[in-house]
Amino acid sequence: MRPFTYSRPGDIAELRRLLATAGDDARLLAGGQTLIATMKQGLAAPEALISLAGIDELTGIRVEQEALVIGAMTPHADIVRSEEVRGRIPALTTLANEIGDPAVREKGTIGGSIANNDPAADWPAALLGLDAVVTTDRREWSASDFFTGMFETALAPGEVIVSVRFPVPRRGAYAKFPNPASRYAVVGVFVAEGADGTPRVAVTGAGPVVFRWAEAEARLADHGFRPDALDGLSHPENGLNDDIHASAGYRAHLIGVMTRRALTRLAAADEAAE
Ligand SMILES: Cc1cc2nc3c(=O)[nH]c(=O)nc-3n(C[C@H](O)[C@H](O)[C@H](O)COP(=O)(O)OP(=O)(O)OC[C@H]3O[C@@H](n4cnc5c(N)ncnc54)[C@H](O)[C@@H]3O)c2cc1C
Repeated sequence: MRPFTYSRPGDIAELRRLLATAGDDARLLAGGQTLIATMKQGLAAPEALISLAGIDELTGIRVEQEALVIGAMTPHADIVRSEEVRGRIPALTTLANEIGDPAVREKGTIGGSIANNDPAADWPAALLGLDAVVTTDRREWSASDFFTGMFETALAPGEVIVSVRFPVPRRGAYAKFPNPASRYAVVGVFVAEGADGTPRVAVTGAGPVVFRWAEAEARLADHGFRPDALDGLSHPENGLNDDIHASAGYRAHLIGVMTRRALTRLAAADEAAE
């Protein structure tokens, strides 16, 4: 690892001052689960590391009108433990609880995950599936505009994610086929019925960046949120990732399986509530 400076600002104003003087080679440090590993491997060599751990404004979970607002520095494990999350969007509890292992969940943060935008990360599916809004120190991004490509987002250099706002849907469910070693999504699908009844089907792991499956959404709009609404429908394999973990054809197959599994979970949750 190359030498670097380390600082730990106490609020966003101090963070901005540090970023303004640190130059282009500064990197923000959240849970360090990705960044520290890439620095150890020599794939990243920032001259300055600026920890976000001392900034209270970036942590915590609160309920705001019909939405859950989760601070960028909130670890996945705090989201799993949150009664506000479990009570309003239990699919987020499920999703967070299936990330990596206990150590990764205690250290890794929602902000670090979406800033990194790994094509196999789970959170992008929840953000796109729930039509979430990413608030930064400069503006708001809709999830549809935020995730722009493989490991790429709309964030400008030095732009800091402050929180994510998830509108509470009528219902939602997440199903993923995890990589058996890392638990990253080979394919993960978030299905939601928005507050206005609009279906959204968001797919992670399968392509270079999270995307919506429009044909499945149209079926759900026409036939309801039932697994058999997708009868005869399959996702094409062109454009999907094809690597050592899974072929494009297998991923296409998994998109259908995971979408039906998420729909089955929705139906089971409805039955349990009756
Ligand atoms: C063994 C292992 C298994 C994993 N399994 C899964 C899995 O199953 N599913 C899954 O989704 N993820 C998985 N992850 C990823 C993990 O959950 C973290 O979310 C991810 O590593 C990044 O979060 P972090 O807080 O550690 O960010 P860091 O590593 O600290 O930072 C990552 C990047 O985001 C930037 N950044 C961080 N915070 C902000 C912010 N607030 N504003 C702007 N930029 C910011 C940093 O500068 C850096 O470029 C796994 C990781 C490991 C090591």
